[in-house]
Amino acid sequence: AKSLGKNRYCVYNDGMGAKEVRRMELEKDLQLALENKQFYIVYQPKWNVKSNSLYGFEALIRWKHPRLGIVSPSEFIPISEETGMIVPITSWVLENACSQCKIWQEQGIEKPVSVNLSNRLFQVGNLFEMIRKILNTKELDPHLLELEITESMVLLDLKDITQQLQSIRSLGVRVSMDDFGTGYSSIGLLDQIPIDALKLDRLFTNDIGTPRKNAIINAIILMAEELKLDVIAEGVESQEHIEHLAQLGCHVMQGYFYGKPMKVKEIDEWYKHQDG
Ligand code: C2E
Ligand code: CA
Ligand code: CA
Ligand code: CA
Repeated sequence: AKSLGKNRYCVYNDGMGAKEVRRMELEKDLQLALENKQFYIVYQPKWNVKSNSLYGFEALIRWKHPRLGIVSPSEFIPISEETGMIVPITSWVLENACSQCKIWQEQGIEKPVSVNLSNRLFQVGNLFEMIRKILNTKELDPHLLELEITESMVLLDLKDITQQLQSIRSLGVRVSMDDFGTGYSSIGLLDQIPIDALKLDRLFTNDIGTPRKNAIINAIILMAEELKLDVIAEGVESQEHIEHLAQLGCHVMQGYFYGKPMKVKEIDEWYKHQDG
């Protein structure tokens, strides 16, 4: 990895745009970010409006770069996927999320925490073992861990990933399909990939209200019900969103309206003020 770092320095040149220079810097600094404890996790609540109670949390990673400040995961996750750093990073997220979930459970908040996966994790070939080990070490009930995957990720190697998911789910771990509706063939896949929940992409929530969009969301929800899948709406930002979604049969909401992604301390404070 060291010689790689050196090579990277060599290719800096005057013709490079600021964007490329930044990317290269991030790529180089990502290698030490774990060691130097520059990552932290924020948690965003998912709220069940039907039972008026907490459904669970999603763990989202943050990178506090010593010079550049907070770098968005949308920027550094794709880079870490290319370099392979995503594997140790995800392992770190899983360990921390499982520890935190256990702490909440002991405090009486027994709700699943979800962690986002990248395709790379399935390519390494030891994801099952990684998860089994972490659950064991943290002594966490597997039902309290949920993995978020995407359609595009699964499509890269449908058969292999389906098999890996099956064995992981046999531990009791939950799986949800993230960003649902933005990918390729969606519907047909649902029959093949073993999952517990669908997360309706934020784009649907944004467009809700027009009769045509409502028809599509409604069809997705009806199908999910038949398949015994939970439906979670992403990007819920207003009372209007909630009313529309609930009317269409979606009862679990995630978005700024209920709570932004927060540090543990803020979550604990937030939780005190909920009636659920
Ligand atoms: P995602 O999994 O789709 O996560 C939801 C994103 O939407 C989060 O952005 C969240 O902060 C944001 N969000 C939540 N509620 C609202 C809302 O009401 N309105 C709007 N406009 N946005 C909302 P974030 O945290 O910046 O993460 C971006 C993406 O980075 C995530 O999208 C996920 O794909 C990836 N990511 C984050 N953490 C991890 C991680 O630990 N591992 C992996 N592999 N990917 C991660
Ligand atoms: Ca997600
Ligand atoms: Ca999502
Ligand atoms: Ca996403």
